[in-house]
Amino acid sequence: MTSTSGTSSTLITGIGSLVTNDPSAGSGGPLGLVADAAVVVEHGRIAWVGPAAAAPTGTDQVFDAAGRAVVPGFVDSHSHLVFAGDRTAEFNARMSGRSYTAGGIRTTVAATRAATDAELDANVARYVREALRQGTTVLECKSGYGLTVGDEERALRIAGRHTDEVTYLGAHVVAPEYADDPAGYVDLVTGAMLDACAPHARWVDVFCERGAFDGDQARAILTAGAKRGLTPRVHANQLTEGPGVQLAVELGAASADHCTHLTDADVAALASASGSTVATLLPGAEFSTRAVYPDARRLLDAGATVALSTDCNPGSSFTSSVPFCIAVAVREMGMTPDEALWSATAGGAAALRRTDVGRVAVGARADLALLDAPSHVHLAYRPGVPLVAAVWSAGVRIS
Ligand SMILES: [Zn+2]
Repeated sequence: MTSTSGTSSTLITGIGSLVTNDPSAGSGGPLGLVADAAVVVEHGRIAWVGPAAAAPTGTDQVFDAAGRAVVPGFVDSHSHLVFAGDRTAEFNARMSGRSYTAGGIRTTVAATRAATDAELDANVARYVREALRQGTTVLECKSGYGLTVGDEERALRIAGRHTDEVTYLGAHVVAPEYADDPAGYVDLVTGAMLDACAPHARWVDVFCERGAFDGDQARAILTAGAKRGLTPRVHANQLTEGPGVQLAVELGAASADHCTHLTDADVAALASASGSTVATLLPGAEFSTRAVYPDARRLLDAGATVALSTDCNPGSSFTSSVPFCIAVAVREMGMTPDEALWSATAGGAAALRRTDVGRVAVGARADLALLDAPSHVHLAYRPGVPLVAAVWSAGVRIS
């Protein structure tokens, strides 16, 4: 892997099709498509966007995209990368006919607790690098495989070395030591564990699901986190209908994640919260558990803001590939290729309440993915093909 300095200026020209996510910049509705485009990157930011024929000259470097497509770097707003071990055996068993239950998380908890800091750090670095090679330039990362005060705090510290988008998920499942005292565990998550973790996180999350935390417990956890300055996000309505989505909207959470089993009232709530609470869909989870996919079309038609992310974790969705999720979302969830691309970039940025990423506009961070294809549609049209040919992260080219 090599990189070049992000402090100089670079003209990226010869872009056959540029997705800006800036409707005023081009055609194609929300994608703001510019044909035969160029971008100037300066000091890690986008300094100029427009037709190649009108591009400024005199930059330190010139990169010729040779007619290929450029899209904003993917914003993966949901992942669980601080873990040790893997769950190959569980996946193999499930693909042989057994269904997924939330309890499998405890296998990873045992392995994660037993790992050293260096092992966990190396694991996170590996998966962040893996995602970056596939075009992901912003990646949210949760704790949730420690479930003790020390192990959760450690997970957040390690995550924070690799991303600014760190989420406290002490409420992933009830810790095994509290199997007979879930109320005691909620007290810990909202008490001493929160005290230790709040300084290291931006977000607080809870797995609101049968077998994990019910609506009242989730409300207590999110409210306590919010009082400590953490903004809520919710694992909601993944395995069954439940109170997660309504709670997310009511508490002003940045996202309700999964949204697989929704009532009409849930869809209406997400539509009314469009722009504040994003519906984040995670098709890697349904793919890897042979479950029914969320209905993106229903949410989009109702007016909800939809993000698309990987949920990368060793149990239920062991993919770091946003292009894979785009292809599945188009094939299985009723999204158009344009909608899927938008959701994996601008949608992810909205779910993280970021305006500096997920778009290619003057002043935005220079996060770009060059595709070995003439348009972004190929991400769905050519599933499984490694189309990401180059990535710039804050103006630094990773190749
Ligand atoms: Zn998750």
